[in-house]
Amino acid sequence: MKQKRNTLQRKTVFETVGELHGHPTANQVYLKAREKCPKISRGTVYRNLNVLSDDGRIKRIKVPGIVRYDSKLEPHYHFICTVCHNVSDVPIPYQFQLNDRLSKDTGFKVNLHRTVFEGICEKCRKE
Ligand SMILES: [Zn+2]
Ligand SMILES: [Zn+2]
Repeated sequence: MKQKRNTLQRKTVFETVGELHGHPTANQVYLKAREKCPKISRGTVYRNLNVLSDDGRIKRIKVPGIVRYDSKLEPHYHFICTVCHNVSDVPIPYQFQLNDRLSKDTGFKVNLHRTVFEGICEKCRKE
């Protein structure tokens, strides 16, 4: 039975990350998951976020200051608002050729690059 409950809680955590657009923090996932599954503990949510990230089912993204989680797995760039700290995906295609170019220029084996744009989001600019 315990195994079954664990599976169900992991599924809840996984689905919650997908539902929370805007790259939730572990705490935001916990608060939302608790609405659906009142018995879920903070520890369970954090543990499952780690397991899901390690399994590659969600992505752990490091933006200045805090770890957030992303349900979109393909490489993409982010924008962080320095006022409200919201993280958004940006509509610029991922530049795979940059990895190749750096590999060629240096002899490093480049697997990926991460780019985080910083500034003030539309919502905060209006306020
Ligand atoms: Zn903002
Ligand atoms: Zn993203």
